[in-house]
Amino acid sequence: MLAGDFSIIWVDECASTNGTLTAAPPADDGRVHVLVANRQTAGRGRRGRAWLSWPGSSLTFSVLWRFMPGAPAPAGLSLVAGLALARALEGLGAQGIQLKWPNDVLVHGEKLAGILVELLPARGRPPAAVIGIGLNLHLPTGISVPGQSGVTDLSRTLEHELPAATIVLAAILTELHGLFEIYASAGFPALRGAWQQRHAFTDLPVCIRGEDSALYGICAGVDEDGALLLRTEAGLQRVLAGDVSLRPGDGAGA
Ligand code: ATP
Repeated sequence: MLAGDFSIIWVDECASTNGTLTAAPPADDGRVHVLVANRQTAGRGRRGRAWLSWPGSSLTFSVLWRFMPGAPAPAGLSLVAGLALARALEGLGAQGIQLKWPNDVLVHGEKLAGILVELLPARGRPPAAVIGIGLNLHLPTGISVPGQSGVTDLSRTLEHELPAATIVLAAILTELHGLFEIYASAGFPALRGAWQQRHAFTDLPVCIRGEDSALYGICAGVDEDGALLLRTEAGLQRVLAGDVSLRPGDGAGA
């Protein structure tokens, strides 16, 4: 039903789907532009980290989303994208999907998918963002991902056979479309409850690690902008999704 709203290009290989779409955004023809790659040779995560994928085992794609003038600040986009991904996978029958602030999708603490949102310079045009998604579909046996203690894939979360990548993509694009429309008209508050319901760390001790700092506290949800709320010794603190990572903590300092 939404097919006409999307322009989907599926390539065999590219360095990074986010890199390609941010470097040369397609002209605005009113459609949502999507670039899918069977293989990324230099997949990106946040802060210059790598996103690893294996041809046939992963779904890696990016979506160029243009906002109407006056749309809410794009700060909550990573969270909305995560929620859309979670809902799409649940709709396909995946069990136990959880979100990790700001932008990861986990199952039992293991990373199933990553999301990288990059904003395009406005240059007088309405704001636009490239939302990159890397989803493990069926990982080769014996792989390990540096810096990640546990990784999982969609096939392990399903009781039935893994659907074709095109079906998974269509489910995710449909949810993204629906939730971005809600986000554009009503902002993050309209989606906050659904996001929090799936957060893996609600009421748990966490550590927020920055480049040279660590903040410990008990996770108290997210606010109306999608900032993380942390109960610390110094009171309730608001953490913006920037160059920080959430890790399970021991509650020290909380
Ligand atoms: P965190 O918040 O946990 O620090 P991040 O949001 O900064 O993560 P991302 O940008 O989502 O991380 O992704 C990059 C990281 O994800 C890499 O450093 C690596 O640890 C991990 N990673 C890379 N490829 C995969 C994969 N296929 N499956 C699971 N994890 C991966």
